Amino acid sequence: MKVALIGIGKIAVDQHVPAITNSPDWELAATVSRHGSVESVEAFTDLGEMLEARPDIRVVSLCLPPVPRFDYAMQALEAGRHVMLEKPPGATLAECHTLEEAARASGLTLFATWHSREADMVGAAKAWLADKALTGLTVTWKEDVRRWHPGQEWIWQPGGLGVFDPGINALSIVTEILPDDLHVKEAVLEVPENCQTPIAARIAFFHPGGAAVDAEFDWRQDGDQTWQIDAVTEAGTLRLTNGGAKMEVDGRASGEAAALAGEYPRLYKRMADLVREGRRDVDLRPMTLVADAFTLGRRKIVAPFEE
Ligand code: NAP
Repeated sequence: MKVALIGIGKIAVDQHVPAITNSPDWELAATVSRHGSVESVEAFTDLGEMLEARPDIRVVSLCLPPVPRFDYAMQALEAGRHVMLEKPPGATLAECHTLEEAARASGLTLFATWHSREADMVGAAKAWLADKALTGLTVTWKEDVRRWHPGQEWIWQPGGLGVFDPGINALSIVTEILPDDLHVKEAVLEVPENCQTPIAARIAFFHPGGAAVDAEFDWRQDGDQTWQIDAVTEAGTLRLTNGGAKMEVDGRASGEAAALAGEYPRLYKRMADLVREGRRDVDLRPMTLVADAFTLGRRKIVAPFEE
């Protein structure tokens, strides 16, 4: 299948282009980007022009930041194209509901991707937890924003999510591996005095079985980077590290890695299956948790962020 990649920036170049290039399912047939392009691939700067000029391209994959994404996605759906969305699937929940409804009404595929759910051991963690009684779960997601988001202004602007840009990846894993739904009880958001979005956050969640569930996100981490989830059950403690790539139970390596190597190759395989089967996959639970943290969170103004 032919796919057009929209928004040729960091994640498009790092992950989407190699995943498409190495996939037996996909051909990268065009790009749409105001500044970026991919060698030997037809490049457009305007989505409308690409949709008009290339009726043979039935699928578009959007790698833009969240705020401009809705207009691009809607335009593509209205032109009868299947759409794959980077995470988070939009800037607001209402936008995502509108996109889902538009896709459903036209019988088109809409895939709201969560790349961290495709990390090697997430499926194994879900299987292990499926029949265990959870007593506690802690998310520790601490990284250096200067290392992972150099020069990215949009993450500090309204809709940019701040530390929830990586934090939502952890929440996408938690909502996938736990059999029960959580909701936010309380939150503290640390917002640099010169920014619109948090640089750190803590959330306490309600769990229907009474387990103590909390998360700590911090973008000020020097040295070792931590992307870890600890789930305590009556039958032992499961630890996911490296963003879901490694799993231990009671300190011992455990579980079988998912088939096919890599998060983005798995996402594109799933998109190919969804298009062939005429289905949609839009799970907004990670985004609901983040939206509720913004709604309920107590703001604490902290030192300005300087790049
Ligand atoms: P990015 O490099 O800052 O932006 C991607 C591209 O989007 C830019 O190069 C730009 O291309 C286009 N763009 C930016 N602002 C725009 C606007 N207002 N209107 C239209 N186009 C605009 O961002 P990124 O790091 O690739 O992240 C994009 C998405 O992927 C985010 O939602 C992020 O959460 C997700 N993601 C990122 C990473 C990562 O490691 N960076 C990992 C996983 C997921 P042109 O100027 O050429 O149009």
